[in-house]
Order: sequence, then structure tokens, then C-alpha cells
Amino acid sequence: MSRSFRLARLAGIDIFVHPTFALLLVWVAVSSGLQGRTVGAAAEGVALMLALFGCIVLHELGHALMARRFGIATKDITLLPIGGMARLERMPERPIHEFLVALAGPAVTLLIAVTLFVWLRLSGDWRPLDAISISRGAFVEQVMVANVALLLFNLLPAFPMDGGRVLRAMLAARTDYVSATVRAASIGQGIAFLLALVGLFSNLFLVVVAFFVWIAAGEEAAAVQKRSALAGVAVRTAMMTQLQTLTPASTLADAVELLLSGSQQDFPVLQRGALVGILTRQRLIGALASHGREAAVGPLMEDCPTATPDELLEPMLTRVDATNNRSIAVVAEGRLVGLVTLDNVGELLMVRAAARRNAVPSS
Ligand SMILES: [Zn+2]
Repeated sequence: MSRSFRLARLAGIDIFVHPTFALLLVWVAVSSGLQGRTVGAAAEGVALMLALFGCIVLHELGHALMARRFGIATKDITLLPIGGMARLERMPERPIHEFLVALAGPAVTLLIAVTLFVWLRLSGDWRPLDAISISRGAFVEQVMVANVALLLFNLLPAFPMDGGRVLRAMLAARTDYVSATVRAASIGQGIAFLLALVGLFSNLFLVVVAFFVWIAAGEEAAAVQKRSALAGVAVRTAMMTQLQTLTPASTLADAVELLLSGSQQDFPVLQRGALVGILTRQRLIGALASHGREAAVGPLMEDCPTATPDELLEPMLTRVDATNNRSIAVVAEGRLVGLVTLDNVGELLMVRAAARRNAVPSS
């Protein structure tokens, strides 16, 4: 989500918008403009979409504020073309908490729909529902109908919809979290398949949604399996210890020589034995073009995230995740003792998965 841009900050939580959201607005403007054949129709389509996404922000805040009650902070809320996503700092541990956090969003959406309904009734603006659809009718009533659609859609038992999390919480109450996730993810992919099939014959937008659901279900299951494979593993297990290093006075030519002579891609920079930064492969290649081979490493190196050997790998990766670094320096008593790279971690996961397959009892 690093390319999303920040829209606002509500209740201490940053609200981001994914760039593809702009494409959706253009699509809505063009299609409602074509339908109504006026600029006004296009503007109304866009206004309706913005109102709906305002409702989605409130829905996501519902999740975030319920999570806060259980002591879980929310990193940010991102608006995607298929809806919103609140990124919780961690998942609730108890199934009942996940259940309540997952239901808090739909509860907000239901509240919005009921409020709009009551308001329309009291003000006498209510029109028969058969004259209304998401693309046709009085504005407030359209927003209400959209919220009802959002509510029903969100309760589909498929990741990343809330119904998927409710389903997992219910499964997890009976079995472990990993199996519950894997089972909920395959149910979600089954539903995505059906959605795509229905969409092929009715609405192509459904096919796009089904595609997102399919991917999200797979990613959710993979992330949970990865977390569980790494649970309890210390940083020391995954770090490489045979390291090539540079000093601030080294030249880019020295770095190129190291890069070509082995498999290491990112090079810690040491000054009198102390870590002062890192020169990544990407940075090196960019700097070669702009600064030439004889430039010193010192002014070009970047800050390097660090870890200690005894720290647990999984929370460390979560902590570093947001910084977009591929390498983490492992430091003990002020000395560099190793380097963890995302490739190392990938290899470790493969080794552990293979070891587990071989450990299947032969009886
Ligand atoms: Zn939700």
C-alpha cells in the first residue's frame, strides 16, 4: 500500500486512498455521464460514489474502534475500488474478539441504512423501492440502497469480506487458527468462483470483485501459514553470518566487485566496527548511473533497520515490514553479527515446510 496517498486522519487513524480508486471515479463519471447524457449526471454519479465511500470509512472506523476496545491499534485505513480495509496492528487472539471486530463494521453500515430510512420516511421523501436502484433515483435513497447492498455483500462468508472473518472466528472456536483460516479461505475461493460465474453472465464488475476475493483469500491463508511456520523462531536461526561489508570510504567500484563475487546483494557499512548504514543493490545500481564508479559509499548509503539475535523473527519482520527494507542487520553488543534478508526467510520457510513433510509418521 506504499503508493497510496493520505486523505485524512480520523480518531488518530490515517485514511489512505489507493490510486486505482481514481480510475473507479473516472469510470463512474464516464458511465453515468453517458447514461444521463449530461455533465450533471456525471457529477451526480461521482457524488454518490464519494458519499458511499464516506459510509465505507465509517464502516472501517467501526472495526478500528471495536479493535481498540481490545487494546489493538489500527495502522491505517485504505480505500480500494472494492471497498475499505482497516489494517489492524495485530489480529485479535480470542475468536470472540475477532467475531466482534468483524461484526462492528457491518453494524455501522446497518445503522447508517436504518438512519437514512427513518429520515426519508419522516421527511416524506421516501419513494417506492422499485423506482430506485444504485444508479437511479433520489440521492439519499440511493445512498441508503447502496449501504444495504454493501451490508449484504460484506456478510458474504469470504475473505476479505467481514463474513469471512466471522466464519473464521466461528471455525477457530472449534479448531486451531491456522486450520480455521485455511478452511475459511477455501470456502471464500469457492464463493469467488461462483461470483465470477454469475458475473460472466450478468455484470463484469462482479468478475473483478471475484478476482480480488480469490487473491485475498489465498494471501490470507498464506500469511497465516507463514506466521505459524515462523512462530517461536529466533532471528539467529535465519541470519547469514558470512558477510561482506563496506566502509564509508569504500568506492562504488568496491561494492560492484563484492556484488559480482558472491550471492550477497545488500552490504552493511561499518565504521571502526560499528554499523553506520547499508548499501543495497538497488541503491548501488541507481548511484552508479548518477555518481560513477569512483564515488564514496558514505554519502550514498541508507539507514539500516536492526534486530538482535535473540529477538523473535515473526514480530521483527512485522516491525520492519512498513520500512520496505529487504535486509535487516543483526547487532549484538554494538557489533554486527549477521544479516537477515527476505530471501533467507523464504529459504527458511521452504526448509521447514520440507522438513515437516518428511516428518509425516511412516506407521
Ligand atoms: Zn468491514
